[in-house]
Amino acid sequence: MAVILLDMDDVLAEFEKNFLERWLSRHPDLPYIPREQRNLFKLERQYPADHRDAVRAIIREPGFFLSLDPIPGGLEAVRQMIGLGHDVFFCTAPITDCPTCPMEKFQWIDRHLGADFVRRVVLTSDKTLVRGDFLVDDNPQITGIMAPVWEQVVFDFPYNRSVQGKKRLVGWDDWHTVLRL
Ligand SMILES: [Mg+2]
Repeated sequence: MAVILLDMDDVLAEFEKNFLERWLSRHPDLPYIPREQRNLFKLERQYPADHRDAVRAIIREPGFFLSLDPIPGGLEAVRQMIGLGHDVFFCTAPITDCPTCPMEKFQWIDRHLGADFVRRVVLTSDKTLVRGDFLVDDNPQITGIMAPVWEQVVFDFPYNRSVQGKKRLVGWDDWHTVLRL
């Protein structure tokens, strides 16, 4: 049995897609970066300097994190993992200058998986401190003060396609095959 750590944004929750929907609705006159052109992990750095405050404001709107749609197949994969006897935890780095973000991450898990799963949320700004067998994460460069004990499984996104030599999930359909569990 494995301990599987799952990132939330752009692994279980549609951060990028729902951001872009809000961006287009709030700022139809401003340029936007389509998903396929996203080659930097940090969203706001991908935008011109004079639009970054507007990007940051959307992500920090109360309700943003709770409203994120589930990524197709992700919740089902969580239930399958549990059903196979694995231990699943949600290992996510909250935005630390957004008071609603941490609580909404708990609420999102409650809404989509139920109250029993909320205790499985691990909020941390340093994922290297957390123990587990796998960490499924879209971040191409996870750093921290410890040597990670988990193996990262990269959840595919245009900005992490240069990462070589790691397991890669392109959507949730074939997670059994990729994790070999
Ligand atoms: Mg993420």
